[in-house]
Amino acid sequence: MKMSYKGESAAALLEWLAAYGRSDSGGVTRLLYSPAWQAAQHALMAKMIEKGFEAYLDTVGNLFGRIEGTDRSDHCILTGSHIDTVIDGGKYDGSYGIAASMLAVERLVHRYGRPKKTIEIVSFCEEEGSRFPITFWGSRNVMNQYTLEDVKKLSDRDGISFSEAMKSAGFDMNVYSPPVRTDIERFIEVHIEQGIVLEQNQHSLGIVSHIVGQKRFMITVTGESNHAGTTPMPYRKDALALAANFIHYVTNFATSEDGGIVATVGKLTVQPNVANVISGQVEFSLDVRHHDKQVLQSFCERIFTYLNQIAGEQFGIKISEWMNVDPVPMCPHTAKMIEEIAKEQNVSYQYLVSGAGHDSQVLGTKIPSSLLFVPSKNGISHSPYEFTSEEDLECGILILQELLYRLAY
Ligand SMILES: [Zn+2]
Repeated sequence: MKMSYKGESAAALLEWLAAYGRSDSGGVTRLLYSPAWQAAQHALMAKMIEKGFEAYLDTVGNLFGRIEGTDRSDHCILTGSHIDTVIDGGKYDGSYGIAASMLAVERLVHRYGRPKKTIEIVSFCEEEGSRFPITFWGSRNVMNQYTLEDVKKLSDRDGISFSEAMKSAGFDMNVYSPPVRTDIERFIEVHIEQGIVLEQNQHSLGIVSHIVGQKRFMITVTGESNHAGTTPMPYRKDALALAANFIHYVTNFATSEDGGIVATVGKLTVQPNVANVISGQVEFSLDVRHHDKQVLQSFCERIFTYLNQIAGEQFGIKISEWMNVDPVPMCPHTAKMIEEIAKEQNVSYQYLVSGAGHDSQVLGTKIPSSLLFVPSKNGISHSPYEFTSEEDLECGILILQELLYRLAY
Protein backbone atom coordinates (compact mmCIF):
# COMPACT_ATOMS: atom_id res chain seq x y z
CA MET A 1 0.00 0.00 0.00
CA LYS A 2 1.41 3.39 -1.01
CA MET A 3 0.72 6.44 1.09
CA SER A 4 1.17 9.22 -1.43
CA TYR A 5 -1.34 11.84 -0.21
CA LYS A 6 -0.01 13.62 2.87
CA GLY A 7 -1.93 16.89 3.13
CA GLU A 8 -1.18 18.69 6.36
CA SER A 9 1.87 17.49 8.32
CA ALA A 10 1.59 16.27 11.91
CA ALA A 11 4.13 18.87 13.04
CA ALA A 12 2.12 21.72 11.46
CA LEU A 13 -1.14 20.48 12.97
CA LEU A 14 0.45 20.21 16.44
CA GLU A 15 1.92 23.71 16.15
CA TRP A 16 -1.53 25.02 15.21
CA LEU A 17 -3.16 23.26 18.16
CA ALA A 18 -0.48 24.45 20.61
CA ALA A 19 -1.57 28.06 19.99
CA TYR A 20 -4.67 27.29 22.07
CA GLY A 21 -3.36 27.73 25.60
CA ARG A 22 0.22 28.65 24.82
CA SER A 23 2.03 29.66 28.02
CA ASP A 24 4.72 32.32 28.44
CA SER A 25 7.42 29.67 28.57
CA GLY A 26 6.36 28.31 25.18
CA GLY A 27 4.51 25.36 26.72
CA VAL A 28 0.78 24.68 26.71
CA THR A 29 -1.76 25.01 29.53
CA ARG A 30 -5.16 23.68 28.52
CA LEU A 31 -7.15 22.82 31.60
CA LEU A 32 -10.58 21.21 31.43
CA TYR A 33 -13.38 23.67 30.49
CA SER A 34 -11.02 26.69 30.52
CA PRO A 35 -11.28 29.27 27.71
CA ALA A 36 -8.18 27.77 26.03
CA TRP A 37 -9.72 24.29 26.27
CA GLN A 38 -13.00 25.53 24.74
CA ALA A 39 -11.20 27.31 21.93
CA ALA A 40 -9.16 24.17 21.17
CA GLN A 41 -12.16 21.81 21.07
CA HIS A 42 -14.14 24.20 18.86
CA ALA A 43 -11.21 24.82 16.52
CA LEU A 44 -10.69 21.05 16.26
CA MET A 45 -14.38 20.57 15.56
CA ALA A 46 -14.23 23.10 12.72
CA LYS A 47 -11.14 21.36 11.37
CA MET A 48 -12.84 17.96 11.51
CA ILE A 49 -15.79 19.31 9.54
CA GLU A 50 -13.44 20.92 7.03
CA LYS A 51 -11.74 17.55 6.55
CA GLY A 52 -15.03 15.76 5.95
CA PHE A 53 -15.79 14.27 9.38
CA GLU A 54 -19.23 14.42 10.97
CA ALA A 55 -18.23 16.19 14.19
CA TYR A 56 -20.10 16.34 17.50
CA LEU A 57 -19.55 16.97 21.20
CA ASP A 58 -21.07 14.76 23.90
CA THR A 59 -22.54 15.94 27.23
CA VAL A 60 -19.15 16.33 28.96
CA GLY A 61 -17.23 17.85 26.05
CA ASN A 62 -15.62 14.83 24.40
CA LEU A 63 -15.28 15.69 20.72
CA PHE A 64 -15.82 13.01 18.06
CA GLY A 65 -15.31 13.03 14.31
CA ARG A 66 -17.10 10.26 12.44
CA ILE A 67 -16.60 8.69 9.05
CA GLU A 68 -19.58 6.43 8.46
CA GLY A 69 -18.65 3.02 7.07
CA THR A 70 -20.31 1.50 4.03
CA ASP A 71 -21.19 -1.65 6.00
CA ARG A 72 -24.36 -1.08 7.91
CA SER A 73 -23.08 -1.91 11.33
CA ASP A 74 -23.77 -0.34 14.69
CA HIS A 75 -20.14 -0.60 15.71
CA CYS A 76 -17.18 1.67 15.24
CA ILE A 77 -13.43 1.73 15.61
CA LEU A 78 -12.37 4.59 17.86
CA THR A 79 -8.97 6.26 17.77
CA GLY A 80 -7.59 9.36 19.47
CA SER A 81 -6.41 10.75 22.80
CA HIS A 82 -6.99 13.66 25.21
CA ILE A 83 -7.01 17.44 24.63
CA ASP A 84 -6.22 18.62 28.17
CA THR A 85 -2.69 19.23 29.42
CA VAL A 86 -0.97 19.65 32.76
CA ILE A 87 -0.07 23.22 33.76
CA ASP A 88 2.72 24.36 31.44
CA GLY A 89 2.85 21.04 29.64
CA GLY A 90 4.06 20.29 26.14
CA LYS A 91 2.39 20.23 22.75
CA TYR A 92 2.60 16.46 22.16
CA ASP A 93 1.08 14.72 25.19
CA GLY A 94 -2.51 13.89 24.20
CA SER A 95 -2.50 16.27 21.23
CA TYR A 96 -0.36 13.96 19.14
CA GLY A 97 -2.88 11.12 19.46
CA ILE A 98 -5.65 13.42 18.27
CA ALA A 99 -3.59 14.82 15.39
CA ALA A 100 -2.38 11.34 14.38
CA SER A 101 -5.90 9.92 14.25
CA MET A 102 -7.21 12.89 12.29
CA LEU A 103 -4.44 12.76 9.71
CA ALA A 104 -4.39 8.96 9.40
CA VAL A 105 -8.13 8.81 8.71
CA GLU A 106 -8.08 11.83 6.43
CA ARG A 107 -5.28 10.32 4.34
CA LEU A 108 -7.06 6.95 4.14
CA VAL A 109 -10.34 8.49 3.04
CA HIS A 110 -8.54 10.65 0.51
CA ARG A 111 -6.95 7.60 -1.04
CA TYR A 112 -9.54 4.85 -0.64
CA GLY A 113 -12.83 6.61 0.04
CA ARG A 114 -15.12 5.57 2.86
CA PRO A 115 -14.13 2.53 4.91
CA LYS A 116 -16.35 -0.55 5.31
CA LYS A 117 -16.38 -0.09 9.07
CA THR A 118 -17.23 3.19 10.73
CA ILE A 119 -14.23 5.00 12.18
CA GLU A 120 -14.46 7.74 14.77
CA ILE A 121 -11.65 9.94 15.97
CA VAL A 122 -11.83 11.37 19.46
CA SER A 123 -10.47 14.31 21.41
CA PHE A 124 -11.26 13.29 25.01
CA CYS A 125 -12.08 16.26 27.22
CA GLU A 126 -9.91 15.35 30.21
CA GLU A 127 -7.32 12.81 31.30
CA GLU A 128 -4.61 14.49 33.36
CA GLY A 129 -6.45 15.53 36.52
CA SER A 130 -4.68 18.89 36.40
CA ARG A 131 -7.59 21.24 37.14
CA PHE A 132 -9.86 19.21 39.42
CA PRO A 133 -8.87 16.24 41.61
CA ILE A 134 -10.35 13.75 39.16
CA THR A 135 -8.77 11.94 36.21
CA PHE A 136 -10.04 10.38 32.96
CA TRP A 137 -13.24 12.48 33.07
CA GLY A 138 -13.46 11.97 29.29
CA SER A 139 -12.89 8.27 28.73
CA ARG A 140 -14.37 7.07 32.01
CA ASN A 141 -17.63 8.84 31.18
CA VAL A 142 -17.74 7.01 27.88
CA MET A 143 -17.24 3.75 29.81
CA ASN A 144 -20.01 4.56 32.31
CA GLN A 145 -17.64 4.85 35.26
CA TYR A 146 -18.69 8.27 36.56
CA THR A 147 -21.80 9.91 37.92
CA LEU A 148 -22.54 13.47 39.01
CA GLU A 149 -21.88 12.42 42.60
CA ASP A 150 -18.20 12.05 41.76
CA VAL A 151 -17.79 15.72 40.80
CA LYS A 152 -20.52 17.55 42.69
CA LYS A 153 -18.25 18.73 45.48
CA LEU A 154 -15.09 19.35 43.49
CA SER A 155 -13.55 22.75 42.93
CA ASP A 156 -10.32 23.95 41.36
CA ARG A 157 -7.50 25.88 43.06
CA ASP A 158 -9.31 29.19 42.43
CA GLY A 159 -12.44 27.91 44.16
CA ILE A 160 -14.42 27.48 40.93
CA SER A 161 -16.76 24.53 41.28
CA PHE A 162 -16.82 21.72 38.74
CA SER A 163 -20.39 22.59 37.83
CA GLU A 164 -19.59 26.30 37.26
CA ALA A 165 -16.61 25.39 35.11
CA MET A 166 -18.67 22.93 33.12
CA LYS A 167 -21.42 25.48 32.59
CA SER A 168 -19.00 28.19 31.46
CA ALA A 169 -17.87 25.81 28.72
CA GLY A 170 -21.44 25.20 27.59
CA PHE A 171 -22.12 21.87 29.30
CA ASP A 172 -24.86 21.96 31.88
CA MET A 173 -24.61 19.60 34.80
CA ASN A 174 -28.37 19.78 35.26
CA VAL A 175 -28.96 18.11 31.95
CA TYR A 176 -25.93 15.85 32.18
CA SER A 177 -26.39 12.18 31.56
CA PRO A 178 -23.29 10.04 31.22
CA PRO A 179 -22.38 9.94 27.51
CA VAL A 180 -21.95 6.17 27.61
CA ARG A 181 -20.94 4.39 24.41
CA THR A 182 -21.73 0.74 23.79
CA ASP A 183 -20.91 0.74 20.09
CA ILE A 184 -17.11 0.92 20.27
CA GLU A 185 -15.60 -2.30 19.01
CA ARG A 186 -11.97 -1.36 19.56
CA PHE A 187 -9.84 1.60 20.60
CA ILE A 188 -6.42 2.65 19.31
CA GLU A 189 -4.31 5.38 20.91
CA VAL A 190 -1.04 6.80 19.66
CA HIS A 191 0.97 8.71 22.26
CA ILE A 192 4.45 9.99 22.99
CA GLU A 193 6.41 7.57 25.17
CA GLN A 194 7.14 10.03 28.00
CA GLY A 195 10.17 7.89 28.78
CA ILE A 196 13.64 7.31 27.41
CA VAL A 197 13.50 3.64 26.39
CA LEU A 198 12.75 4.03 22.66
CA GLU A 199 15.35 6.75 22.26
CA GLN A 200 18.00 4.73 24.12
CA ASN A 201 17.29 1.67 22.00
CA GLN A 202 16.98 3.75 18.81
CA HIS A 203 13.53 2.46 17.99
CA SER A 204 10.87 4.54 16.27
CA LEU A 205 7.87 2.63 17.56
CA GLY A 206 6.80 1.16 20.89
CA ILE A 207 4.07 -1.47 20.95
CA VAL A 208 2.61 -1.42 24.44
CA SER A 209 1.80 -4.87 25.82
CA HIS A 210 0.43 -3.74 29.20
CA ILE A 211 -0.34 -0.60 31.12
CA VAL A 212 0.92 -1.02 34.66
CA GLY A 213 -1.26 -1.42 37.70
CA GLN A 214 -0.67 1.05 40.51
CA LYS A 215 -1.03 1.01 44.25
CA ARG A 216 -0.60 4.20 46.23
CA PHE A 217 -0.41 4.48 49.98
CA MET A 218 -0.01 7.02 52.75
CA ILE A 219 1.96 5.51 55.59
CA THR A 220 2.21 6.95 59.09
CA VAL A 221 4.90 5.86 61.51
CA THR A 222 4.40 7.02 65.08
CA GLY A 223 7.24 6.96 67.60
CA GLU A 224 8.06 9.43 70.33
CA SER A 225 9.43 12.97 70.17
CA ASN A 226 12.22 13.59 72.63
CA HIS A 227 15.41 15.54 73.35
CA ALA A 228 18.18 14.91 70.78
CA GLY A 229 20.89 15.29 73.43
CA THR A 230 19.59 13.59 76.53
CA THR A 231 17.86 10.52 75.09
CA PRO A 232 20.34 7.61 74.77
CA MET A 233 20.15 5.68 71.48
CA PRO A 234 18.66 2.45 72.92
CA TYR A 235 15.72 4.36 74.45
CA ARG A 236 14.62 6.19 71.35
CA LYS A 237 11.49 5.72 69.24
CA ASP A 238 12.75 7.67 66.26
CA ALA A 239 9.98 7.64 63.64
CA LEU A 240 12.19 9.15 60.93
CA ALA A 241 14.97 6.60 61.42
CA LEU A 242 12.41 3.80 61.10
CA ALA A 243 10.86 5.36 57.98
CA ALA A 244 14.34 5.77 56.46
CA ASN A 245 15.12 2.11 57.14
CA PHE A 246 11.88 1.08 55.41
CA ILE A 247 12.39 3.38 52.41
CA HIS A 248 15.91 2.02 51.96
CA TYR A 249 14.55 -1.54 52.08
CA VAL A 250 11.77 -0.82 49.55
CA THR A 251 14.13 0.84 47.10
CA ASN A 252 16.76 -1.90 47.34
CA PHE A 253 14.21 -4.68 47.07
CA ALA A 254 12.57 -3.13 43.98
CA THR A 255 16.00 -2.63 42.38
CA SER A 256 17.14 -6.18 43.08
CA GLU A 257 13.88 -7.74 41.82
CA ASP A 258 14.74 -6.72 38.24
CA GLY A 259 11.26 -7.65 37.03
CA GLY A 260 10.18 -4.13 36.19
CA ILE A 261 8.65 -3.24 39.53
CA VAL A 262 9.01 0.44 40.42
CA ALA A 263 8.51 1.83 43.92
CA THR A 264 8.74 5.48 44.91
CA VAL A 265 8.52 7.46 48.13
CA GLY A 266 8.20 11.01 46.87
CA LYS A 267 6.65 12.86 49.77
CA LEU A 268 7.60 12.87 53.42
CA THR A 269 6.28 14.95 56.30
CA VAL A 270 8.30 14.88 59.50
CA GLN A 271 6.94 15.90 62.91
CA PRO A 272 7.97 18.06 64.62
CA ASN A 273 10.64 18.68 61.91
CA VAL A 274 13.05 20.35 64.30
CA ALA A 275 16.82 19.84 64.11
CA ASN A 276 17.43 18.95 67.76
CA VAL A 277 14.30 16.93 68.39
CA ILE A 278 13.85 13.20 67.72
CA SER A 279 11.05 12.79 65.24
CA GLY A 280 7.80 11.56 66.78
CA GLN A 281 5.83 11.00 63.64
CA VAL A 282 6.49 10.64 59.93
CA GLU A 283 3.92 10.47 57.18
CA PHE A 284 5.07 9.45 53.70
CA SER A 285 3.71 8.42 50.33
CA LEU A 286 4.42 5.17 48.55
CA ASP A 287 3.73 4.55 44.85
CA VAL A 288 4.23 1.00 43.52
CA ARG A 289 3.65 -0.10 39.91
CA HIS A 290 3.91 -3.30 37.90
CA HIS A 291 2.11 -4.88 34.96
CA ASP A 292 1.35 -8.14 36.81
CA LYS A 293 -1.28 -7.87 39.52
CA GLN A 294 0.16 -10.85 41.41
CA VAL A 295 3.69 -9.42 41.46
CA LEU A 296 2.36 -6.06 42.63
CA GLN A 297 0.37 -7.71 45.40
CA SER A 298 3.17 -9.91 46.70
CA PHE A 299 5.71 -7.07 46.58
CA CYS A 300 3.43 -4.95 48.77
CA GLU A 301 2.78 -7.83 51.18
CA ARG A 302 6.49 -8.43 51.59
CA ILE A 303 7.47 -4.82 52.23
CA PHE A 304 4.67 -4.31 54.74
CA THR A 305 5.65 -7.50 56.59
CA TYR A 306 9.11 -5.99 56.87
CA LEU A 307 7.69 -2.67 58.09
CA ASN A 308 5.67 -4.38 60.80
CA GLN A 309 8.71 -6.43 61.83
CA ILE A 310 10.98 -3.43 62.30
CA ALA A 311 8.22 -1.46 64.02
CA GLY A 312 7.62 -4.21 66.61
CA GLU A 313 5.69 -3.07 69.68
CA GLN A 314 7.60 0.20 69.85
CA PHE A 315 6.07 2.05 66.92
CA GLY A 316 2.59 2.68 65.61
CA ILE A 317 2.08 1.95 61.92
CA LYS A 318 -0.87 3.05 59.82
CA ILE A 319 -1.03 2.08 56.16
CA SER A 320 -3.81 3.55 54.08
CA GLU A 321 -4.19 2.49 50.49
CA TRP A 322 -5.94 5.24 48.53
CA MET A 323 -5.36 4.00 45.01
CA ASN A 324 -5.50 0.49 43.62
CA VAL A 325 -5.67 0.24 39.85
CA ASP A 326 -5.25 -3.13 38.16
CA PRO A 327 -2.83 -3.55 35.26
CA VAL A 328 -4.53 -3.56 31.86
CA PRO A 329 -3.28 -5.74 29.01
CA MET A 330 -3.51 -4.28 25.51
CA CYS A 331 -4.99 -6.46 22.76
CA PRO A 332 -2.32 -9.07 21.85
CA HIS A 333 -3.81 -9.85 18.41
CA THR A 334 -3.70 -6.23 17.32
CA ALA A 335 -0.16 -5.98 18.72
CA LYS A 336 0.84 -8.82 16.35
CA MET A 337 -0.73 -6.96 13.43
CA ILE A 338 1.17 -3.82 14.38
CA GLU A 339 4.39 -5.82 14.59
CA GLU A 340 3.82 -7.17 11.07
CA ILE A 341 3.15 -3.69 9.75
CA ALA A 342 6.30 -2.34 11.39
CA LYS A 343 8.36 -5.11 9.76
CA GLU A 344 6.84 -4.47 6.33
CA GLN A 345 7.42 -0.73 6.63
CA ASN A 346 10.99 -1.18 7.92
CA VAL A 347 10.15 0.62 11.13
CA SER A 348 12.31 -0.40 14.09
CA TYR A 349 10.09 -1.28 17.04
CA GLN A 350 10.01 -2.94 20.41
CA TYR A 351 7.42 -4.08 22.92
CA LEU A 352 7.05 -1.93 26.02
CA VAL A 353 5.11 -1.71 29.25
CA SER A 354 3.55 1.68 29.91
CA GLY A 355 4.38 2.98 33.37
CA ALA A 356 1.92 5.86 33.03
CA GLY A 357 -1.85 5.78 32.77
CA HIS A 358 -3.60 6.50 29.46
CA ASP A 359 -7.14 6.57 28.07
CA SER A 360 -6.45 3.18 26.47
CA GLN A 361 -6.23 1.73 29.97
CA VAL A 362 -9.79 2.89 30.70
CA LEU A 363 -11.22 1.55 27.44
CA GLY A 364 -8.94 -1.49 27.61
CA THR A 365 -10.73 -2.86 30.68
CA LYS A 366 -13.73 -3.75 28.47
CA ILE A 367 -12.80 -3.20 24.82
CA PRO A 368 -9.80 -4.59 22.89
CA SER A 369 -7.43 -1.63 22.93
CA SER A 370 -4.02 -0.75 21.55
CA LEU A 371 -1.45 1.80 22.61
CA LEU A 372 1.45 2.85 20.39
CA PHE A 373 4.37 5.01 21.44
CA VAL A 374 6.66 7.28 19.48
CA PRO A 375 9.97 8.45 21.04
CA SER A 376 10.17 11.43 23.40
CA LYS A 377 13.43 13.36 23.15
CA ASN A 378 15.42 12.82 26.37
CA GLY A 379 12.32 11.11 27.78
CA ILE A 380 10.89 14.51 28.75
CA SER A 381 7.15 15.08 29.09
CA HIS A 382 4.70 17.31 30.99
CA SER A 383 7.07 20.14 30.14
CA PRO A 384 7.47 22.79 27.43
CA TYR A 385 10.58 20.80 26.40
CA GLU A 386 8.55 17.83 25.14
CA PHE A 387 9.78 17.02 21.65
CA THR A 388 9.34 14.31 19.04
CA SER A 389 10.97 14.60 15.61
CA GLU A 390 8.81 15.10 12.51
CA GLU A 391 10.04 11.80 11.18
CA ASP A 392 8.87 9.92 14.27
CA LEU A 393 5.54 11.77 14.29
CA GLU A 394 4.92 10.76 10.67
CA CYS A 395 6.05 7.20 11.35
CA GLY A 396 3.41 6.79 14.10
CA ILE A 397 0.75 8.05 11.69
CA LEU A 398 1.87 5.69 8.95
CA ILE A 399 1.56 2.70 11.29
CA LEU A 400 -1.86 3.84 12.52
CA GLN A 401 -3.01 4.42 8.96
CA GLU A 402 -1.94 0.94 7.86
CA LEU A 403 -3.55 -0.65 10.92
CA LEU A 404 -6.85 1.18 10.33
CA TYR A 405 -6.73 0.12 6.70
CA ARG A 406 -6.49 -3.55 7.70
CA LEU A 407 -9.18 -3.23 10.34
CA ALA A 408 -11.72 -1.02 8.59
CA TYR A 409 -11.31 -1.40 4.82
ZN1 LIG B 1 -1.36 11.82 27.77
